[in-house]
Amino acid sequence: MISPPGVKTLLMARERIVSGESGGEEENRFNFALRPKNFSQYIGQETLLRRLKIAVSAAKGRKEPVEHVLLHGPPGLGKTTLAHVIANEMGAQVHASNGPALTKGADLVGILTKLSPGDVLFIDEIHRLPAIVEEYLYPAMEDFKVDITLDAGMHARTITMQIPPFTLIGATTRIGLLTGPMRSRFGIANHLEFYTPEALHEILRHNAKLLEIDYEDSALGELARRSRGTPRIANRLLRRVRDYAAVEAKGKLTPSVTQAALNLEGIDDRGLDEQDRAYLRTLIKVYEGGPAGVEAIAASLGEEIDTLVDVVEPYQLQTGLVMRTRQGRRATKIAYEHLHIEYVPPPATGDDFSPQPELFTDETENS
Ligand code: ADP
Repeated sequence: MISPPGVKTLLMARERIVSGESGGEEENRFNFALRPKNFSQYIGQETLLRRLKIAVSAAKGRKEPVEHVLLHGPPGLGKTTLAHVIANEMGAQVHASNGPALTKGADLVGILTKLSPGDVLFIDEIHRLPAIVEEYLYPAMEDFKVDITLDAGMHARTITMQIPPFTLIGATTRIGLLTGPMRSRFGIANHLEFYTPEALHEILRHNAKLLEIDYEDSALGELARRSRGTPRIANRLLRRVRDYAAVEAKGKLTPSVTQAALNLEGIDDRGLDEQDRAYLRTLIKVYEGGPAGVEAIAASLGEEIDTLVDVVEPYQLQTGLVMRTRQGRRATKIAYEHLHIEYVPPPATGDDFSPQPELFTDETENS
């Protein structure tokens, strides 16, 4: 797909600071120190937490591992953190892996046979697990058994081995890409919601204290409002603003220092960055507000479809800047207003523009 002429599609080549995706080793170390360790430290996601607390306490009572748990939602909302919290609460070890790293059955069998009773196996990006590996996972999840192939060629034979009871915690940003059989094997499946500004404010207060930052409470409120409902982004912005304050304001975080630091990063009052705005601008200017398929928008922007679907769109859908219709994405009046572009209502064509009810079943193939 070729971009229509006259449209600026290049994005600044810099680390995208409002992406919920993990930003490398240094950030991981920083986040690790701030990571809640147990249920009482975990802020937000109240409904999910209530369910998990019941499941953990019931499992402890029965002296069994917790049922397998599937956590889905955009990056940076705390799926990995929750897996560790559940393990801590159970007094269990976590063995972490991810879908693309497990390329063959033997990779998974190697991990499964090393588990101790009650351990947690965390598989991130579980929707990217190859089908062949999934086949090994099913009997492990259901009956705590794995099939091991001994020898090769003519003498190959398979033996079934018992493994210790364990809890699989799967995380995915794309629940729609998970196979039906895989989904059905989880006893608990839950979506993580974007955090409210109040919850993020509380997380930031807690972390600012841990980091011994000198702050005004309203500065953290401003940061919380611009963090796209995502704790990982809130932590990342806190680092940026702390650095800015150290250099420009003797270390004190005030609302004006926060605003200046975020403006410098190109983050606006909705927490959108240049990539978000480029997405909206393309939808409005190139595709006349939509409906447009995500593949077409991605091609015009020179972006990966996955990045748009996983990182850019969820928050825009959630906050009503964009809606999904049967024909594709549509910019709403709020998006036009946000970009100061005059709103042109779509032509009335029956139910053409009715939004799809499920925001997070994101199979791109039908978009
Ligand atoms: P995901 O696995 O969903 O991408 P993570 O679990 O890695 O997200 O979370 C990213 C960071 O955000 C964590 O390192 C942690 O510091 C912070 N975080 C996530 N959830 C919470 C929470 N509920 N309270 C406080 N901090 C959180």
